[in-house]
Amino acid sequence: MSDIIQLLPDHVANQIAAGEVVQRPASVVKELMENAIDANATEIKLIIKDAGKTLVQVIDNGKGMSVTDARLSFERHATSKIRAAEDLFQLNTKGFRGEALASIAAIAHVELKTKQDEDDLGTAIVIEGSEVKSQEVVVTPTGTSVAVKHLFFNIPARRNFLKSDTVELRHISDEFHRVALAHPNIAFSFYHNGSDLFNVPQENYRQRVVHIFGTKTNEKLVPVEEETEVLKISGFVGKPNFSKKTKSEQFFFVNQRFIKSPYLNHAIKSAFEGLLKDGYHPSYFLNLTVDPKSIDINIHPTKTEIKFDDEHTLYAILRSAVKHSLGQFNIAPVLDFEHQSSLNTPYEYKDKNASIPAIEVDRSFNPFSEDVNRKEKTTRQNTGFKSPPTASWESMYVGLESKGNNSQSDFSQVTFESESKDESIFNDSAIETRKTTFQLQHKYIVSTLKSGMLIIDQNRAHQRILYESFLKHITVKEATSQQLLFPLQLHFTPNETKIIDDLKSDLEHTGFAFSELNDKEIMITGVPVGVPESEVSIILEQLISDVENDVPDTNFSAADLLAKSMAKSLAIKNGQSLNSTEQEHMVNSLFACKEPNVSPTNRPTFITMAVDDIEKKFM
Ligand code: ADP
Ligand code: MG
Repeated sequence: MSDIIQLLPDHVANQIAAGEVVQRPASVVKELMENAIDANATEIKLIIKDAGKTLVQVIDNGKGMSVTDARLSFERHATSKIRAAEDLFQLNTKGFRGEALASIAAIAHVELKTKQDEDDLGTAIVIEGSEVKSQEVVVTPTGTSVAVKHLFFNIPARRNFLKSDTVELRHISDEFHRVALAHPNIAFSFYHNGSDLFNVPQENYRQRVVHIFGTKTNEKLVPVEEETEVLKISGFVGKPNFSKKTKSEQFFFVNQRFIKSPYLNHAIKSAFEGLLKDGYHPSYFLNLTVDPKSIDINIHPTKTEIKFDDEHTLYAILRSAVKHSLGQFNIAPVLDFEHQSSLNTPYEYKDKNASIPAIEVDRSFNPFSEDVNRKEKTTRQNTGFKSPPTASWESMYVGLESKGNNSQSDFSQVTFESESKDESIFNDSAIETRKTTFQLQHKYIVSTLKSGMLIIDQNRAHQRILYESFLKHITVKEATSQQLLFPLQLHFTPNETKIIDDLKSDLEHTGFAFSELNDKEIMITGVPVGVPESEVSIILEQLISDVENDVPDTNFSAADLLAKSMAKSLAIKNGQSLNSTEQEHMVNSLFACKEPNVSPTNRPTFITMAVDDIEKKFM
């Protein structure tokens, strides 16, 4: 019998191989967008006609290709992304097979235009069914445009197999969403038959999720953050009461690559256990970062499945991180409640927690640091006042902030609420205020609003900020304490010592620590973070005189008085110059307060001037 085996002609082999990569227009969208990302584009535009059956075009502003590379890019197994098999275990790119462009070119009409930044002119190549029709030098912007027309023109069976435009467009939108969600730092736009379906700028992850799934999504997102040696998690899960009957809002990204993992999905479902109605699915938008060495993305041709080295550990970490976030979300109604009641009596003294403050030695704190000295000098020159609390005034909030960071504690909820609260009271956005602030006579911080001008009294504003922060520490949280190198000995009259003694536990909550407190002497071993040693006796003297002068009435609260008194002692004084960061920080912290409008002693902290009023003055 004669030999019967033949080598298939290249174009047939290419068509068969193309079937692996390109199932439908959405596959082309995915491959082209991934190439644009691999080329470090910051702006990617997707243009579609007739659900991709007539045209799929991706335009990027990435690094482009040289003439040689442009031609080579259509060869099978031509890739710039790996050089040796070992590179497969260190992948930082989406592509690596060098198959996409070759496959697409085998079954469509492709027009490539590309230019590198250092070149004046670019290259245009037209290929139809793997055959190069033309190659020219062209004027084109830096980056790459790939237009894919008449998909499956030479494989009628595949073309007929395509679904309706609605279905194909949905596949394309799904791919687009996945890529856009994985890369909030890239701006994307998406046009179908001339109308614009999406247009998202470079933004943060929350904004990206909201842009893609709608404004209403914002309120349902619960942040999930966790960082361990093997896995970093960041992103959001949906609150249980917003769960859906479909799985359309379930997204895992591993190293910015969309993946499907029934196993990890199960981890999330089990974290939601007892919180979901039957037949409902949780929403999640989670980014997992792992060492590229610990995964194998090579096991599936379309690469949405992935093999992890240690799936059990990932499962456990993921489950507990999501549970933790949901747990905090469950606390939220309690905080909401406090927030409500705060309208009458702003702070819940009764809930005062009696535990001893944690002592944390801030070794980097140096009251003699240059910054501090510089400010002290300025103030003395300007006002002749006693030395102010100095540069580290922001560190007043250290206890509070570091807690939020470490564990994404319930403060993230509080902060977020107060952010949204500002918006309603203050519908001029904070961003607006951030751009332009300046100081007037070392006394006022002036800032622009959409509707006019904002003038803040720096001393009163800072009193408000410190007052709320101290109250929070006294009534709800423990503050961090800064241990003194040598105990500080102070002498007071027995009456005065009695006053301090009565306030001892409140003082401890703000961060003071006492080793001795008797008739004869007071020994202080710790002070609130950010309070310089030199200020301590002044604070206590002020406190004693405030208590003595306070007419005790029904509203008397030791904690309130202590917070007011300390805020008064430590607030930035008028006459102190503030740099722009400090000014911004002041503005933002003030409007994150529960009652930003007045100082602790009920005097206005700021005034506004509407453009209308300003205009009247010019008449
Ligand atoms: P892979 O992405 O797996 O390397 P492709 O066939 O998708 O394979 O692309 C082949 C090569 O063409 C890439 O490795 C890259 O060097 C180049 N290339 C493709 N698209 C672009 C683009 N948008 N910008 C710059 N280079 C590109
Ligand atoms: Mg590719």
